[in-house]
Amino acid sequence: MEESEKTLSRQQAAIEAERCLYCYDAPCQAKCPAHVPVPEFIQSIRSGNLHGARTLLQDAHPFIETCGRICPEESFCQSVCTRSKIDGPVRIRELHRFVTDLTDPSDRMELPRATEGRVAIVGAGPAGLACARELRVRGLSCDVFEVRQAGGVPAQEVSTQRYPHEVEEREVRFLTSSFVANVHGERLTDVRPLVAQYDAVFVATGLSSEGDMNVEGMQLEGVYHARELLRKMKSGTISGAGSRVGVIGGGNVAIEVASMLREEDPTRDVIVVYRRGIKELKAFKKEIEEATALGVTYQFLAIPDKVVGSHHVEGLQVTQAHLCEEDESGRCRFEPLPGSSFIIPLDTVVVAIGQQVEEGVFPGLARSNSGLISVGENMQTSMPGVYAGGDVVHGAQTVVEAVRDGKKAAEQIAVFVAGGK
Ligand code: SF4
Repeated sequence: MEESEKTLSRQQAAIEAERCLYCYDAPCQAKCPAHVPVPEFIQSIRSGNLHGARTLLQDAHPFIETCGRICPEESFCQSVCTRSKIDGPVRIRELHRFVTDLTDPSDRMELPRATEGRVAIVGAGPAGLACARELRVRGLSCDVFEVRQAGGVPAQEVSTQRYPHEVEEREVRFLTSSFVANVHGERLTDVRPLVAQYDAVFVATGLSSEGDMNVEGMQLEGVYHARELLRKMKSGTISGAGSRVGVIGGGNVAIEVASMLREEDPTRDVIVVYRRGIKELKAFKKEIEEATALGVTYQFLAIPDKVVGSHHVEGLQVTQAHLCEEDESGRCRFEPLPGSSFIIPLDTVVVAIGQQVEEGVFPGLARSNSGLISVGENMQTSMPGVYAGGDVVHGAQTVVEAVRDGKKAAEQIAVFVAGGK
């Protein structure tokens, strides 16, 4: 499938590099969770040293090819670009992608011998692999435990139009082959046996359980959980998800699955059903715009009451809502309008209302009220020597935020392991 966005041409990249003001104490760099040295890498592009630009990116960030494509720059670096006050932000993410597309990732880092300790990493997503790289660079050896495809949510669930297989494969293969001693294809739900075998453990499994709606009809054929459907669509193990699909939710996963369903079949009707209004959608603005451009439509102010059908989905009964005053999060609350229910005819319903850490996994690790794994400032859990980061600690977050957690945890783990020797 053709990519939805093209690499900047050399001329476009040169123009963007000229637009950079090379700020002292650059706000873009501070706002990037991985602290990519933005002005320096743009300066390297300006002077024609793309290899140097790649080295700067690579030193800061293990998922540079991924973030060059899917980083939500509107929330990070570009949101604070000083140039915005003149004529719009520098296209930092696209410059980032320009560098990775035009340079070769084959250069291997000089690594010390892995004699400083052994660490088990549970989960091979961005947080886990970022942690592995930082630890290996510090002379520690890492084993990774991952039952699914390495690479995490982007590899398994982001549409190939935005994030092609070959890009993902190249980056993840480079990270696992360069920085990981062994990848074990096991699903681990208890870290206590690892504590005895390794010097430290890092838990970065992400959120494996999807939220359910407490309404009638969830058992009907044609009801899916969003992330499960995304994984099946991306791996090609399902097709023909119906011709009239309702996606329930307003977050990034809802918009991602809606877009992927339209990409797979542009004749399919895909309707995002959301309890609040357009302003309250939680997904990134750019992704909403892309979904809308693909033909995704919206049924706002609609509260799902039940999935209708005998064996298979025939529709979704909803009640019209109206918005009230803002709650503590600054978003408008919604209330049902009595007697306003109606049925949206559908043959497929996709539930995308959030994810959690599975109940009962990782006994012995303290959890927050929302069920996430609790960590201290140093990212250590309630069990000494066991650290955690990424979605399993913060809830759903972006790749670059997961990378930040992996890097930070590695620093703390290295100190812990050195202290124990
Ligand atoms: S990783 Fe994301 S936030 Fe950081 S510089 Fe690249 S595009 Fe911007």
